[in-house]
Amino acid sequence: MNIFGFSILNFTMSRRKIAAGNWKMNLNLQDGVHLVHQIVKASRDKRVDTLLGVPFPYLLEMARLSRYMDNVDIMAQNCSHFENGAHTGEVSASMLASLGIETVVIGHSERRADNNETNDILKLKVDLALANGLQIVFCCGESLKTRKAKKHISFVKNQIKESLFHLKKKDFDHIVIAYEPIWAIGTGETASPAQAQEMHREIRKYLKSKIQNKANDISILYGGSVKPTNAKELFGQKDIDGGLVGGASLKAETFVPIINSF
Ligand code: PEP
Repeated sequence: MNIFGFSILNFTMSRRKIAAGNWKMNLNLQDGVHLVHQIVKASRDKRVDTLLGVPFPYLLEMARLSRYMDNVDIMAQNCSHFENGAHTGEVSASMLASLGIETVVIGHSERRADNNETNDILKLKVDLALANGLQIVFCCGESLKTRKAKKHISFVKNQIKESLFHLKKKDFDHIVIAYEPIWAIGTGETASPAQAQEMHREIRKYLKSKIQNKANDISILYGGSVKPTNAKELFGQKDIDGGLVGGASLKAETFVPIINSF
């Protein structure tokens, strides 16, 4: 429950269907508010949890708005690996929690690449997010070079191991995994449903080795050029529980059909 005394999403519920948008560094506040209203109005399917990852400056306004939404929740796109202190421009997990934000994306490939976020740094972020009561959408995924070398499965497993496998079993109640092959992000190139399902199955199997049957309760999202035209087939795969969507989440015309694809 957040400071406003409400909570619509709860990762502790078993295996949820999730449509998560990632606005990245797009949209101004006015266009963002308009988009949220459009999404709230158009997506009434209570079986799907809709999350919107918005830029930091919009979080407070969006958190206030989300008081009146029962089908959409707001998440942050990142948090600092420092607890507090002299880190100009950083935003801490506790600051997010104080705004009433309940969920944070950690480990997006763009942050890994642009900000040199290593698995060890992400591990620190994960710990701080959990310590502040936040739920985590943890991103992992391989480059095209790694896939071509047929090392993609071990690469992704290692990302998960190094940033998450120090956690206790109960901590995984607060974690959603997003598998996002880097070669499919913002490129228009999508992993085929079979390629995505193969990786999701491997991730779930790997989680099982750590947390046994609790792995069946963890939502694993696919990300990488999800569109209204491919969402249904991707989300129809056995181990794919939804999507983390970049470009197509910036317009109601493309995001709402994705939410309605389950
Ligand atoms: C993303 O931002 O995580 C993403 C998958 O982007 P896109 O849908 O544009 O490929």
